[in-house]
Amino acid sequence: MIGNGKLLQRLTVVLLATCFLAPLVLPVMPAQAADTTSWFRLVTVDTNLDVWLNGTKLSMQAKRCGDTVLVPLSVLHQAWGVTYALSNVCSALSIGDSHAVWQGRSPIYRLGQQEFPWDVAPFMVGAQLYIPLRELMEPMGAFVGTAKPSGDLIVAYSTQWQKQPWLRQAQLAQLEKIDQIPMGVKSLAGRAKVVAFTFDDNWDPEATARIAELFHQYNGHCTFFVVGTMARAHPEVIREIVRLGHDIGNHTLSHPAATKITGTDFAKQIRACEQVLNGIGVTSRPYFRFPYFAQDKHLMKIVTDQGFVTIGSAWTIEDTEPNRSVAHSVATIRRFISPGVIFVAHPNSTMTYTVMKTILPELAARGYSFVSVSELLSRR
Ligand SMILES: [Zn+2]
Repeated sequence: MIGNGKLLQRLTVVLLATCFLAPLVLPVMPAQAADTTSWFRLVTVDTNLDVWLNGTKLSMQAKRCGDTVLVPLSVLHQAWGVTYALSNVCSALSIGDSHAVWQGRSPIYRLGQQEFPWDVAPFMVGAQLYIPLRELMEPMGAFVGTAKPSGDLIVAYSTQWQKQPWLRQAQLAQLEKIDQIPMGVKSLAGRAKVVAFTFDDNWDPEATARIAELFHQYNGHCTFFVVGTMARAHPEVIREIVRLGHDIGNHTLSHPAATKITGTDFAKQIRACEQVLNGIGVTSRPYFRFPYFAQDKHLMKIVTDQGFVTIGSAWTIEDTEPNRSVAHSVATIRRFISPGVIFVAHPNSTMTYTVMKTILPELAARGYSFVSVSELLSRR
């Protein structure tokens, strides 16, 4: 394999030397409007060197030199809007505000003030420049992991990550476990006194916003599984939730029972919810909850295929209408609280806020802290 690598490096020299004929910095790829609003875009290279973007197989293949996996630049462009320019002085590759710079044959590239090694220098095959995926993307701040047990290389990156305070490493760490969660997670037993409150639908924006603020007052987090139509109507509430560090999850666009629509329509519902959130500058990935908990194994596979993890719940705090009351919900939480439990509530009226305002001080006094789903899962 070493001989092969050297051959490729020689090829690189020849091809880059050809590029050096260009007198000045020459933009090779037009800076088309790539979708960089969705901050969670996943490139997977499987062991056959097939390349997948957010679960969709692309027409191009990766290459392998020793342990190094290289992908065509057009993959990086399609996934994250990467552009590059080559010149006789230096080559530059840009993603968002990050710029990697290298000189044609150099075994290193620079990122800001730091130098990073290429295991294999970028090389061209036909019109395509191949870039070592992990070597470039990890220093640029991407999440890079190997899926178990498939051995697929997975890379998630967003231009938003460096800028936004809501990057959650714990959430990203779950990527490696996506295939290992067979059914919706309902609780995670452990010694730590943590509880994960989750809020579905959120039809009442005022109740939702007040709950987000309340958890913040307790230095805690919670999770909101939002419906796309609600998010579209109240983007300011969504932004505030994210600003306070809470998790946003996907609860479909318009809240149908998945068991009553086609699989294709169900997948569309998940994607449409994510698109609404992307339009606000946030993401619902990677957590999903079924409306009405109407789910089965086949439907859960659709969720997984869309790149989401299904989150269940151990207890719903509300009784059915018309028996809903603050007293009943508070009693339910008192009865079923245990370390690692996931509760679900529905802030479709201010009643849910009143329940939380009543119970949080009591739980805090008992030593509980309040965690989002990503924080809960990161404790396994
Ligand atoms: Zn719901």
